[in-house]
Amino acid sequence: MGYPRLSIAEIREGLRRKQFSCVEITQQHLKRIEEADARLKAFLTVTPESARARAAVLDQALAAGEPLLPLTGVPIAIKDNICTQGVRTTCGSRILSNYVAPYSATAVERLEAAGAVIVGKTNCDEFGMGSSTENSAFGPSRNPFDLERVPGGSSGGSAVAVAAGEAVGAFGSDTGGSVRTPAAFCGVYGLKPTYGRVSRYGLVAYSSSLDTIGPLARSVADLAELLQVIAGHDPRDMTSHGSAPDRYTSGLDAALRNHRVGVPFSLIEEGVEAETRRAIHRALDALERAGCAVEEIALPHLANAIDTYYLIAPCEASSNLARYDGVKYGYRSEHFSNLGEMYQITRAGGFGAEVRRRIMLGTFALSSGYYDAYFLKASKVRTLLIQDFQAAFARVNTILIPTAPTPAFKIGEKTSDPLAMYLTDVFTVPANLVGIPALSVPAGYTPDNLPVAVQLLANQFHEKALLHVAWHLEQAFALKPAALAV
Ligand code: GLN
Repeated sequence: MGYPRLSIAEIREGLRRKQFSCVEITQQHLKRIEEADARLKAFLTVTPESARARAAVLDQALAAGEPLLPLTGVPIAIKDNICTQGVRTTCGSRILSNYVAPYSATAVERLEAAGAVIVGKTNCDEFGMGSSTENSAFGPSRNPFDLERVPGGSSGGSAVAVAAGEAVGAFGSDTGGSVRTPAAFCGVYGLKPTYGRVSRYGLVAYSSSLDTIGPLARSVADLAELLQVIAGHDPRDMTSHGSAPDRYTSGLDAALRNHRVGVPFSLIEEGVEAETRRAIHRALDALERAGCAVEEIALPHLANAIDTYYLIAPCEASSNLARYDGVKYGYRSEHFSNLGEMYQITRAGGFGAEVRRRIMLGTFALSSGYYDAYFLKASKVRTLLIQDFQAAFARVNTILIPTAPTPAFKIGEKTSDPLAMYLTDVFTVPANLVGIPALSVPAGYTPDNLPVAVQLLANQFHEKALLHVAWHLEQAFALKPAALAV
């Protein structure tokens, strides 16, 4: 059951000392994928040839005396809704099952320019719509701690790949929790950056005012290195922010001075499973010992976040997904007698049940006569939620809440009850609605060996504060590498 668990710093050091080559590291991870992924199903596409070729080029550059880049030789997995030139990008959907992206996302270009080796594309809920990967047209990924359980979603494959040592780091997208929930269920770190901090160019649009790309990793230091490479302005995304990113990788170990942590205690007592509540209290103890002041905060509109999200996200999705009409690219049904029927049959057969449900919900909520009652009203509640967080951040630096109300649930447990599935996101959607960064931190295991996690939130562009606090939690928890089922 041996598998590689190298950190980015260890890879850098090993390459510097010539203990191994980029090709060897790549080969080791490809072997792990080959051995484990038939059971885990983290990947929809593995790219062994291009990964080996890329690693060989990096080795040649090192042999020629070129300096190490920030991610030289680091095997990385990419969620299958992020475009990779020349490689299939399915979004977990039948409608894009044969789509090969003609260009790469800015995040992918920056990773490659930084020396990363992309080993493949990871499974996800169709177009990011789900919390378990069960909505993938290609079947669910499996939780590496218990193969009968979900890995979380929608970036489930990315979390599994990192947890199981199939990649050193991975990227997912987070519209309402899709990086953080799978990170929590699989015992790894996951960061949703501030809206505008990381370019969305080449991320297939689900809900454009909420979508972000974020990293998953096995340590805070690795997470900071991955964020560093992809953060920053991109003229190709008009919602990308012009400010320069911080130095996320430096000063993580500095003492926490004058740091105030806010906790909405009353919200956490309700509907949160006992192990997760205990994790919150362990985190609070650790932060107090590290010198933080803890303060109770109120977030009065947090209770409305799910309703708000499940209106805004489907509305934007119904508009974004109108482009899949079987004409320019993607799947097209062969059985039709006129154009209207072609659209209808293509979309009915190309999209899965959850995506069709969201398109119908969103189209209805945007339709004439209903717009004011639904979309407009949801937008107003979104503003109230933003005001709640502004008031909180006037008093505290970070906020501590659970990532998910429960640990990983069983495959099939929630598939027939969409509402139960939506409620998984109660603690993750607020950060997207407000546009702030949030980080899921592994916080231990249940007696059944399932990971539990806590979540830190900070004000816009304060990713560095999140990483700093998370680093202190990582030291305090000092979790041992877990025993996996594969
Ligand atoms: N589970 C949420 C949804 O289904 C969030 C998904 C995401 O962040 N992409 O919309």
